[in-house]
Amino acid sequence: MKNMGFGMMRLPLLDENDLSSVDQEQVNKMVDIFMEHGFNYFDTAYAYHDGESEIALREGVVKRYPRDSFLIADKMPTFLISDESQVEPIFNEQLERCGVDYFDYYMIHNVSGFSEAGWKYVDTFSFAKEKKSEGKIKKLGLSTHANAEFLDNILNEHPEMEFVQLQINYLDWENEGVESRKCVEVAKKHALPIIVMEPLKGGFLVDIPEEAEKIMKGYNSSESPVSWALRYVAEIDGVFMVLSGASSLEQIEENIRFMDDYKPLNEAEHEIIEEVTAIINSNITVPCTKCNYCMNSCPSNINIPKLFDLYNNEMIEGRNGLFTAVGNAYRNYSVLEGVGIASDCTGCEACMKECPQQIDIASLMPEIAKTFEIEVYGFTDD
Ligand code: SF4
Ligand code: SF4
Repeated sequence: MKNMGFGMMRLPLLDENDLSSVDQEQVNKMVDIFMEHGFNYFDTAYAYHDGESEIALREGVVKRYPRDSFLIADKMPTFLISDESQVEPIFNEQLERCGVDYFDYYMIHNVSGFSEAGWKYVDTFSFAKEKKSEGKIKKLGLSTHANAEFLDNILNEHPEMEFVQLQINYLDWENEGVESRKCVEVAKKHALPIIVMEPLKGGFLVDIPEEAEKIMKGYNSSESPVSWALRYVAEIDGVFMVLSGASSLEQIEENIRFMDDYKPLNEAEHEIIEEVTAIINSNITVPCTKCNYCMNSCPSNINIPKLFDLYNNEMIEGRNGLFTAVGNAYRNYSVLEGVGIASDCTGCEACMKECPQQIDIASLMPEIAKTFEIEVYGFTDD
């Protein structure tokens, strides 16, 4: 069995357009099955589900299991911090939301060029070190989506880090923006254990193009693309934990099955992954991982990750200019009350400061509007 953590970033929702409407009943069932199989690591963050993820963790785990039977990882939201006075209240609020008096693992969240105000100009690293000395943090680390050189510099400046959480999956392994492989090498150079986030690249590696899935199924008909993706990251040297960002009971059961019965990839399987990577790369349009960091930044209330998801699916399925199921989903989204559609984008770029994948959101929105609003339905917002 490989070690798997329960990432509480994309929990099941009662209303798919309301990130805070966590389906606690389903979360509790997911927690139970996870614990029954001997897993006990839960990863949350201040910003996930507008703060409701920490609360869901308290309700589903902390209130229902003895404190020494599980591990909690939480994160200081650097991207929300611009002043020293915010740090202590946020940390205290996190302890309260989670219902605990210490965190087993604590990270400076998403250390990157975009979040400098919250870790460089406000010294959240020193604050976290102090909390560690008070016993409120057991292990201190950082998470980042930044590239290898940036990671190396940060780790040189912060030798107090005890672990790192990195975006690793087979699609990003050689990706020039994410540099998963090089980041793993940096972590090894600093002798730091690695927690893998985004092993399925925000769900991308679940619904891969038909052509790629056929190759995987041709080799082993009983194994799904999810299994291939999890096995790929679990065997990487230096990895001690893989986060499963399950959004349903069914998904967590599936992930548990693979990790329970884990087998490393053989050489032929590695070759298949390379082939599949090439196929996916030729189909992916927008590398959005649905992290939702941009969600509250848009003055036009555009559900940016939702539109990217629809757009990518449209591209992967190979639209032929006619009505499609994805186009229909876009239409359904567009009639929801209070949401913005792609053509509502004013190009203000507020969202782009939040995006760890550095996606040029403002330039893509007109393209999405063209694809769904003009070519498929012939409607615009004006
Ligand atoms: S650039 Fe467009 S999508 Fe981004 S915040 Fe501004 S209006 Fe919203
Ligand atoms: S656009 Fe960027 S910030 Fe927004 S959900 Fe996608 S990856 Fe995250």
